[in-house]
This record gives sequence, C-alpha cells and structure tokens, in this order.
Amino acid sequence: MAQASKTSTRRPDSLWEASLTSDTRCESEPWEHGLEADITIIGAGLTGLWTAYYLSGALPDAKIIVLDLAGVGFGASGRNGGWASALLPMGLNRLEREYGREFAVATQHAMHSTLDEIIRVTEAEQIDAGVTKGGTITAARSLPQLDRVRHEVETYARFGFEDDYHLLNAEEAAAICNMTGIQGALHTPHCCAVNPAQLTHGIGRAVRRRGVRIIAPACATSIRRGVVTTTHGDVRTRYVVRATEGYTSMLPGQRRASIPLYSMMVATEPLSDDVWQTIGLHDRPTFDDTRHLIIYGQRTADGRFAFGGRGAPYHFGSRIDDSFDSNEQVRLRIISTLRDLFPALHDAQFTHHWGGPLAVPRDWACGIDTDWKNGIITAGGYVGDGVSTTNLFGRIVTDLIADRELPDYEPKVQQDHLPFINRKTRRWEPEPLRWAGINGGRLAAGLADRLETRTQRPSRFFGGVIDGLLRR
Ligand SMILES: Cc1cc2nc3c(=O)[nH]c(=O)nc-3n(C[C@H](O)[C@H](O)[C@H](O)COP(=O)(O)OP(=O)(O)OC[C@H]3O[C@@H](n4cnc5c(N)ncnc54)[C@H](O)[C@@H]3O)c2cc1C
Repeated sequence: MAQASKTSTRRPDSLWEASLTSDTRCESEPWEHGLEADITIIGAGLTGLWTAYYLSGALPDAKIIVLDLAGVGFGASGRNGGWASALLPMGLNRLEREYGREFAVATQHAMHSTLDEIIRVTEAEQIDAGVTKGGTITAARSLPQLDRVRHEVETYARFGFEDDYHLLNAEEAAAICNMTGIQGALHTPHCCAVNPAQLTHGIGRAVRRRGVRIIAPACATSIRRGVVTTTHGDVRTRYVVRATEGYTSMLPGQRRASIPLYSMMVATEPLSDDVWQTIGLHDRPTFDDTRHLIIYGQRTADGRFAFGGRGAPYHFGSRIDDSFDSNEQVRLRIISTLRDLFPALHDAQFTHHWGGPLAVPRDWACGIDTDWKNGIITAGGYVGDGVSTTNLFGRIVTDLIADRELPDYEPKVQQDHLPFINRKTRRWEPEPLRWAGINGGRLAAGLADRLETRTQRPSRFFGGVIDGLLRR
C-alpha cells in the first residue's frame, strides 16, 4: 500500500468544514499500542459512523473501534453537496431488469424511509446539521432535458410512485426555482438538504458517547482474518467493516475495485433576501437539471448557494492527492454555470472552493460484501449518492453482524427484497484503458450538453459514447 502513506491529510477549504466549532467537531483519540476490538471499522465517514451507531445499539457490550487515516469526516462525507436524497446510482429500470420489479419497488421504499430515519436520529441525538426536508427539483432547460424529465416521471409512475414524483410545467417549476430557460421539472418531497460536515461530526460525537473509540490518524495498510495492520501498528479484532469508499483503490489488491472520481464544489457568500426573492428555493429544495455532466446545488441554512459538479479529470492510476481537491478550471466553469442558471448572482462573491473523491465501482452500483470466513464486510460504492444510503447500509451491516451474534436478533431492515448484498461486480480495466475511458466519457458528456443546448435535440452520438465508455 505504498500510495496510502503518501496521501497527506490536509482538509479542503470547504464551507462545511469552516462551519464546525469546538462544540460540534468530533475529535479522535490518538493511536495506542495493543488495541483489541470485537469490531473494527475502517473509515470515519458516514458509512463507518452510521454502522458504529447502530452496532453500538444492537450490541451494547461489543468493543467497537473506528480507524481513520485522517479523522472524522475527512472523506466525501464531510465535503459533499448535502443532498440526503432517495437516489441510488442504479435506477428503478435497472433494478427491475437485474432483480425484478419487487426488488426495485422495495428498494425505492427503503430509500424514502431512510430520510425519515436520518431526521429521527438527528433529532434524538440533537445534531444541528440544518436538516430540511424540502424535496428536490430536477429542472429541464432544453427539449432533450424535458424529454428525460418526462421519462423519469413516467418511470416512477410505472412503479407506483406517481404520488411521490411529479411533473411540473415551466410556470410551476419557476415558482419553486427561478432558473433561466426552465421548461419544466420533476419535483419530489423525498430529499433533505443538510450540512454534511455537521451531520458526520454529529454522528461521530453520538457514537463516542455510546463508548465507540475513534482512532486517528491510523491508516489501514492490510486487512487479514482477525488483524488490521495500520501505519501505526496492529488491531486484533473479530470482525472488520471496511468503509473506505473513494480511497479503496489505495488498499492492496483493491486498485481496480473502484475508481476515485473527483467532484468539485463552490459556495457563495450569504445572499440578500432580495436575491432569494428573485431565485426562490424557499423551502430549501435541492436542485439540479438533467445535463450529462452532473450538477447539484442547495440553498444552505445560512442563505448561501453550495453548488457542485462533475468534470474534474480522473488521475492516471487512480491517484488521490490533496492537490486534486481544487481545480481552477473546474471552479470557474462551475461558477459560470451557476451564474447562467441564476443571473441574480452576477455580483455575488464566491467564498469557498473544494472537492474530493467519490467511489465508482465498474458496474456503477453500490453494495455490501460479506466474507464471513475472514470476518470482513465491505460497504460502499455509492457513486455520488451516498449521504442517505450510508444510513441504510449502516443498518444492514448491523443486522448482518448482530444476526450472527445474537440468537434472537430481529433484523431491523427488511433485507429480503433489497439487492445490495453480495452482488458480483467486475473490476475496472487496467491502465491506460481506465484513464482513456473515464476521461473520454467526461469529455463526451460536456460535448453532448453543449450540442443539446445548441440543437435542442438529444445528442445520440455522444450519448452513445458516454454509455459505451462508462456504463456497465
Ligand atoms: C464533492 C462531493 C459531492 C457529493 N455530493 C453528494 C450529495 O450531495 N449527495 C449524496 O448522496 N452524495 C454525495 N456525494 C457522495 C457522498 O459524499 C459519499 O457517497 C458518502 O459520503 C460516502 O461515505 P463513506 O463513509 O462511504 O465514504 P467517505 O466519507 O469517503 O469516508 C471514507 C473514510 O475512510 C477513510 N479511509 C480510507 N482509506 C482508509 C484506510 N486505508 N485506513 C484508514 N482510513 C481510511 C477516509 O479518510 C475517509 O474518512 C458527494 C461526494 C463528493 C466528493
């Protein structure tokens, strides 16, 4: 694991990180020799911490340790767009195709109820992460985008979710989110806007109150049956939960398991009431549109825009480095995109810029793997939709372990019709194919968007290129 020790641990200049105070930050404990645990969780992001949260409830006597190479919320969980959504990287059509209709419907219901579970826990643990269930609006700003939005609404309806996902006409959409050129939108109540660093650190503090130890810095360099070896020494343990997401490719044998794909964000200064009067987003719905090169935004609890997008380069050999956490070209493009959506921002100052790696498995689908022989469970692969799913996965991993430990344990999640456990996924191609394919797909996505805006017709050629290069 040569690369892991080289990865430095400077936190990015994110709006969320800057909002933490000594009252809300979750500190870690320093390494100590002779660590032993019943369950060792690698990664103090939302997957690791939600798992620790539910495990400490189900197995109150278990000794649980969370290790992190840099501390709580260092990864994507502390830096993301703050959409706690009901989205999964695999949509309903694909779930139906691969697992059947019942699985698809059950999965969507599980995602909906996950949002309520997150709200429940943040209230119970008094975590002030600005969680607001204002829904989400996916705008259509061209005819091809409108077609895609219509198609999405029809798909949800086909699976019985017609009361949850609505098609809005241009006027209705603009009344919620006054974007330039809006021609219609999909609207759903199933999304919360959150401050992700406050959420992650809040869960971290809650698990520490329950007796879980969070040890950092401690970078796991190998995982074997009963032993996690770190840069500082070994932890003896019964079970290991690996929740390393975008950093997984640094682990031995995992280089091609998923790729670290960088997503980038900016934040504005707090905006005046007049500006918000023009723009809308009064209930704080999150927003995006259906362009190929994904964008995502929210109105923050303190009246700013936090806005992000894909398009940063993939780095040869799945490299991860602090210097990749910002990118001037992408920063300028994201700012110009946001100003194009909302011209009222022409004079607004942009105060923060940051980014980070998220994990993309080769089949673009998240999952949980169980290797009971070695006591190792792996959870993740959320692509860019992990804020809520980490909660669901934390509960499922807890059920899986508690079920083996307690004879009368009643699983809390109805797993029978959830498609996440022990999926088989192939590995990414070796370099330079990986580099060429991912960056080629990224360029094709940008070209497809420009062409669609100009011609108002779907870009079948570049759409095909994107599918060919990046999809399963
Ligand atoms: C800029 C950006 C915007 C995003 N926006 C959204 C959004 O709006 N909504 C959404 O749903 N999702 C979003 N995502 C994705 C989402 O943030 C992630 O899916 C989610 O946070 C994953 O949580 P995690 O705990 O699995 O991973 P992480 O939060 O990345 O945590 C992994 C942790 O493991 C630690 N680690 C890794 N390797 C080791 C090791 N060898 N030893 C010890 N520790 C290790 C890391 O330090 C890290 O803290 C976004 C991601 C990014 C980067």
